[in-house]
Amino acid sequence: MTEVIIFLGPPGAGKGTQASRIAEEKNLAHISTGDMLREHVSKNTELGITAKSLLDDGKLVPDSLVIDMLIERLKADDCQNGAILDGFPRTLAQAQSLDEISENFPITKVIVFEAEQNELIKRILHRGETSGRSDDTEESVSVRLDVYQKDTEPLIGYYQENNLTVKINAVGEVDDIYNHLSKEF
Ligand code: ADP
Repeated sequence: MTEVIIFLGPPGAGKGTQASRIAEEKNLAHISTGDMLREHVSKNTELGITAKSLLDDGKLVPDSLVIDMLIERLKADDCQNGAILDGFPRTLAQAQSLDEISENFPITKVIVFEAEQNELIKRILHRGETSGRSDDTEESVSVRLDVYQKDTEPLIGYYQENNLTVKINAVGEVDDIYNHLSKEF
């Protein structure tokens, strides 16, 4: 059985930064679907070729593709001690696909990262100056924030019903947020 912790929150909230630190500290797998998709793009795989323009535009990659990729990833050896999901689920269908495998991969907690839109836009555009990410542009950011509000934010309510959510203020020093967050593990 692999326990799963979900990091949920808007783009630019710092989920990836915190997830990689916590994962290393607690010996958990850090699974970022965004990183996985970018790797497919850079390797020019079939999935990468499909995903590239969607990623660039800030749109979501189709559920079926992401769900299969994620479920395969969860079966890897490094997940045995538990996994942090960073960027998944992003839609109700994705959340339901996790529910279907909950016997082997139970969700133990959903950490909800909270930050204001203006702060997120500022961070992502700043990151774009050095990240080399082709989706850290003004146009793509605005699409990503809209997609988040429409498709992903409703998942907070979905998980609240099961009393799984913990809210974290994602604005402040990275170390302070980390210290706060690590109490949840
Ligand atoms: P951010 O949180 O800054 O938007 P990510 O690295 O999590 O960055 O995601 C980058 C892009 O990868 C998304 O805009 C989307 O195109 C794609 N992506 C990542 N995860 C998913 C997912 N679970 N479902 C669909 N598309 C995804």
